[in-house]
Amino acid sequence: MDKIAIKLNSDLTKSEIIQLLALDDFTPVYEAADRVRAASVGDTVHLRAIIEFSNICKRQCIYCGLNRDNEDLPRFRMSHEEIVATAREAVAAGYRTIVLQSGEDPWFTPEKLGAIIEDIKAIKITDIGTNEFVHPAVTISCGEMSEEDYAYLKSKGADRYLLKHETADPEAYSRLHPCGTLENRTNCLKTIHKLGYETGSGFMIGLPGQTLETIAEDLMLLRDIPCQMAGIGPFISNPKTALAGEKNGDPELTRRAVALARLLLPKANLPVTTALSIMTEEEHEQNPFAFGANVVMKKVTPDQYKEAYEIYPADFKPTDIAGDRKELEEIIKSYGRMPL
Ligand code: SF4
Repeated sequence: MDKIAIKLNSDLTKSEIIQLLALDDFTPVYEAADRVRAASVGDTVHLRAIIEFSNICKRQCIYCGLNRDNEDLPRFRMSHEEIVATAREAVAAGYRTIVLQSGEDPWFTPEKLGAIIEDIKAIKITDIGTNEFVHPAVTISCGEMSEEDYAYLKSKGADRYLLKHETADPEAYSRLHPCGTLENRTNCLKTIHKLGYETGSGFMIGLPGQTLETIAEDLMLLRDIPCQMAGIGPFISNPKTALAGEKNGDPELTRRAVALARLLLPKANLPVTTALSIMTEEEHEQNPFAFGANVVMKKVTPDQYKEAYEIYPADFKPTDIAGDRKELEEIIKSYGRMPL
């Protein structure tokens, strides 16, 4: 086992993060991340229900199957009523957070989104502890907007905003995102934070040209914003994009990045890197919560739309919102954690 001379805390410098990412044996860092997780956010695992309500996107991110140049993809928009009905079903199944996710679809104006948020926020849940009514939290993940629009959605009740930066390397960012710049994305994240949203970003492991240095910069950007949520996942090549045939991201390096995110952002909400219900047996042998994560994101998008929300290829099981939730709760309990 490597002897780690680096202090494993939230002040890690860029060169220390790079040294840690390159360790032969990362076990001591995983153990430190798990200790920080236990002390900062406890044993609760938060389940989030994601509704992917439109796969129409004006952008051209070259890794994403939803980019506007992909003519093979059947496009859809859910109606206001369908979105709210799906949210109701998710809340009835036990979810306390609804994540509204879409491509950058100008048809969904801030007014339309605001009306959806209001209707979801009006759903009542009985709090198990106090027996009083509470309302679900709403997370928005709909891309870049003006400060005015972010503020409007906040005024309608949105609690959190998720906007992944994907890479903190400005050149790589421009290569991957012909429609945007890293500067603009970072400014959006700072605006979101300033407006009082619980702010989330995140990035991919394994993007072509990525180095340990850029991963360290990705992690430091999360701390600089500062983010309260961070989604870190492996790059998965989509055959219908310009990155078809590129190697997928390394799961071990992805877990390392999550563990380091826990050290840098002790109180952050960090999703597990794999959908638990589609984990292989071998992956189940490794406790997916042993690396610092405390959140599971679960798609509740209706079946008729789910397959068309293909950012990257995935296996699509039929959606059974209540049944899937129960299954996830059992998996989480089997690791000694408390699903919420
Ligand atoms: S990553 Fe988001 S903004 Fe980019 S093409 Fe895909 S859905 Fe659109």
